[in-house]
Amino acid sequence: MEKKQFQAESKRLLEMMINSIYSKKEVFLRELISNSSDAIDKIYYKALTDDSLTFEQDQYYIKIEADKDNRTLTIRDTGIGMTKEELENNLGTIAESGTLHFKNETEIEDGHDIIGQFGVGFYAAFMVADVVTVITKSLESGQAYKWQSEGTEGYTMEEYSKDDIGTEITLQIKENSEDEHYDDFLDQNHLKNIIKKYSDFIRYPIKMDITEQRPKEDNEEELEEYTEEQIINSMVPIWRKNKNELTKEDYDNFYNEKRYGFDNPLKHMHIQVDGAIRFNSILYIPENIPFDYYSQDYEKGLELYSNGVLIMHKCADLLPDYFSFVKGLVDSEDLSLNISREMLQQDRQVRLIAKNLNKKIKNELKKMLKNERENYEKFFESFGRQLKFGVYSDFGQNKETLQDLLLFYSSKEKKLVSLDEYVSRMPEDQKYIYYATGDSIDRIEKLPQTELVLDKGYEILYFTEEVDEFAIKMMRTYNDKEFRSVSSGDLGIEDEEANEQKESEEKENKELFDKMKEILSNQVKDVKISKRLKSHPVCISADGEVSIEMEKVINQMPD
Ligand code: ADP
Ligand code: MG
Repeated sequence: MEKKQFQAESKRLLEMMINSIYSKKEVFLRELISNSSDAIDKIYYKALTDDSLTFEQDQYYIKIEADKDNRTLTIRDTGIGMTKEELENNLGTIAESGTLHFKNETEIEDGHDIIGQFGVGFYAAFMVADVVTVITKSLESGQAYKWQSEGTEGYTMEEYSKDDIGTEITLQIKENSEDEHYDDFLDQNHLKNIIKKYSDFIRYPIKMDITEQRPKEDNEEELEEYTEEQIINSMVPIWRKNKNELTKEDYDNFYNEKRYGFDNPLKHMHIQVDGAIRFNSILYIPENIPFDYYSQDYEKGLELYSNGVLIMHKCADLLPDYFSFVKGLVDSEDLSLNISREMLQQDRQVRLIAKNLNKKIKNELKKMLKNERENYEKFFESFGRQLKFGVYSDFGQNKETLQDLLLFYSSKEKKLVSLDEYVSRMPEDQKYIYYATGDSIDRIEKLPQTELVLDKGYEILYFTEEVDEFAIKMMRTYNDKEFRSVSSGDLGIEDEEANEQKESEEKENKELFDKMKEILSNQVKDVKISKRLKSHPVCISADGEVSIEMEKVINQMPD
């Protein structure tokens, strides 16, 4: 039998697994059960959509068997199985879905992050086992195979015989060590607890033969041992459960199990709608920015279920771009199983659900801004830019949805404030919402243009990101108040005396200004007396709609 080598990256990962850098070893079971559940999903879906296949509901299950004497733990499923090629591709290399691209060596050193970030799935078995054996028969090929590995040394594969379609994974559990009591993973009560903790909502029964004591029938005084097969999980998917019965930990666990992120969610939403359209949804706002979020690679979308059956991994039509950071799922009885990607976009139900979710997310964020300011600011640090892009794109169409969710740095508060907060404390004589643009708060504070506005006691919003100004240009107004750059020609700050003085000074110095204009003829349009300067001798100001900062950006754009 030929021994094959793992692909290099898989080997690194296996080494990390075996060297136990992950503290919670028990999650290996969650990984294997979740793979089994995915495999059953696949065959279940096939049976539902292919008339030549018929299955009974009770044919779908996962069975966990512990054998203390032989120190083996077996996870058996009636899923779709794997062909030879699939075995090789899925278990010999890091699964595509795992997309493990080490960015640099330090990340490999700090294995915690990687494992949390990508989820290593199947390989987690090596945290608790010396030998892992996979026997699988694929629905497609009908031929069974045995795959075996003792870890980094590689794996073997051979033809095998197996009666039923499905997969059986047997772990040779490690001997107890100083740090870890591996025997636990052979103990039925311990296993039961782990299954309940991580896999309770799996839709298929997770069965175990449970041995218990009970009083003898003929003699109640004496106990007898008996064994019966029990279903350990409740099988109700978490999104169908009653909100009141669930804890934050349940939602966090589900987030981790689903691999929505490598962090913990900042916020979860459990939405249960039972009206013209019926659906259940669990949504999460991640705490951290996904590593590829602001790149082309990032794919937005929610998992879409039709009455409990997963029909799409990332349904993009359910989320607008400005909420693309939201993770989670939607399950609706009103969706057809056979709905195709193309049909989804036109689907009325999907559109209704999307609209509903959009409103719910917006309201949740608003609530957070109002009641949990610190959390909201954390959120905004991560995803605020996306909201601003949202205002900017679609020509301000999303203004109504998004304007109250924006925060900007304020000269007055020296922290982030909302537009509502700004406008509500505007003095009566203040006409505009003032803003100043620059690379950093520090640099904006040194701008001569801010002086006059600040001297009037008006608040200025500091825009340090390019998108800031583009976004408010699209909004044009907030609560009927126009935005105005502190470097714009007309600040709307009137002062009669200064005006008269300016006029006379302009007359007196006409010759000087004409001369200056002549010298600077290529660089400036006009040279004027400014009413705005206090301690600075001169400043440059923009006349039209476009501020100097914006002009800079526009000039950098490719034609
Ligand atoms: P992921 O589940 O994220 O794809 P895993 O490492 O957990 O990554 O699994 C790798 C792949 O191996 C799965 O995508 C699946 O194709 C295959 N696989 C694992 N376990 C099973 C199983 N019990 N039945 C069928 N296929 C499986
Ligand atoms: Mg998996």
